Parts: sequence; C-alpha cells; structure tokens
Amino acid sequence: MAFRLVILGRQGSGKGTQCKNLSSRYRIPHISTGEMLRSAVAEGTDHGVQARESMHAGQLVPDDIVIGVVEERFALPDAHDRGFLLDGFPRNVVQAEALDELVAPAAIDLVVLLDVATEVVIARLLDRGRGDDARQAIERRLALYESQTAPLVDWYAGAAKLVSVDGVGTPDEVAERLYSAIDARLPVGDDR
Ligand code: AMP
Repeated sequence: MAFRLVILGRQGSGKGTQCKNLSSRYRIPHISTGEMLRSAVAEGTDHGVQARESMHAGQLVPDDIVIGVVEERFALPDAHDRGFLLDGFPRNVVQAEALDELVAPAAIDLVVLLDVATEVVIARLLDRGRGDDARQAIERRLALYESQTAPLVDWYAGAAKLVSVDGVGTPDEVAERLYSAIDARLPVGDDR
C-alpha cells in the first residue's frame, strides 16, 4: 500500500536527519526537492538551468519548475508503488494545491510538522555557520519560511492531516516521537 507523507519544518529543525530515519522505517523513497534541484543544476538539465539563478540568490525557485521536477519524480515506479516522504515541497499554498492534483485520485495521507522554535533553530544554525553574513542569510530563509510555508500548517490542520511533533531533543528521542505519531496514523491494514 502506498503511504504519502509530507514533512514540514524550519531549516535547522533536524528534518534531513529524521527523513533518513523515516524513509528507512516506512520503506518509502525520500524525495527532497532541494536535493533534486541541486543535482539538476549540477547536471545542467533544463529544470536546472531554469532553477539556478533563484537558488543562488537564496530565493524560491518558480512554482512551475519545482512542480515539474516533482511530477517527473512521482512517475518513477518506487513512488507510485510505495508512496513517498516529501521534503522541501510544498513550500507554499500554490504548491500544496498542485500536490493535491498530482496525487489525485489518491491523497496525501499525513503531514508531519517537525516543530522547533525560530530562536532554537537560529542558535543551532549559527553554531554551524560563521559571522554576520551567516546570520543574515539564516534570518532571510526563516522569514521566507514564516511568510510562505508556515501558512501550510493551518492549511493541513484544517484538512485534519497534520500531526505536530516536538523536534527538541536528541535525534533518537525525536525519531521515537515521530515513529509513535506516525504509527498511530498509518493507513488501516498497512503492515510496514
Ligand atoms: P532546501 O534544501 O529544501 O533548503 O532547498 C534548497 C533551495 O532549493 C531553496 O533555497 C530553494 O531555492 C530551492 N527549493 C527547494 N524546494 C523548493 C520548493 N518547493 N519551491 C521553491 N524552491 C525550492
């Protein structure tokens, strides 16, 4: 049975680490639009050429390009048969609406918010980065998340698809919280 999962969370929430855990536990492909776009840029594909400028400027890539990348990825058999763990997409309401259309007549099963407060992710990210430039870049990206992506939390909560998990703790503690939250919501009859 296919399981279609979306993960939301600020940069620095530990999403990357937890996606590896979730992808292996639920045996679903981890689909990261950031990773796919970076390799498209590196390979110089059409999508890569179109995405390059916005990525370098720290902006969001235009919706139609990202939606095209996701659509191509969904056409591969693993995503069709097993479902997916979608990371970095949707980033705004337009993309969330496009996602519903891409998966129709099926639907997204569950959206997990890996919840870590802004002050906490800033501290984590500054630990990894350097100086004022780093702080400015971090604040710009977090502001983009607040304005574009955070509204999706209410959007999915309204559709009764959202589960919020506290992302503060050791990676193992957070993984255990995610497993219990998700296991409780697995589609009926799913024995993964
Ligand atoms: P990420 O690794 O998810 O932070 O993505 C890295 C960069 O890829 C972002 O800063 C955006 O420029 C671009 N990107 C990734 N996913 C999306 C998306 N869903 N919509 C627009 N741009 C995206």
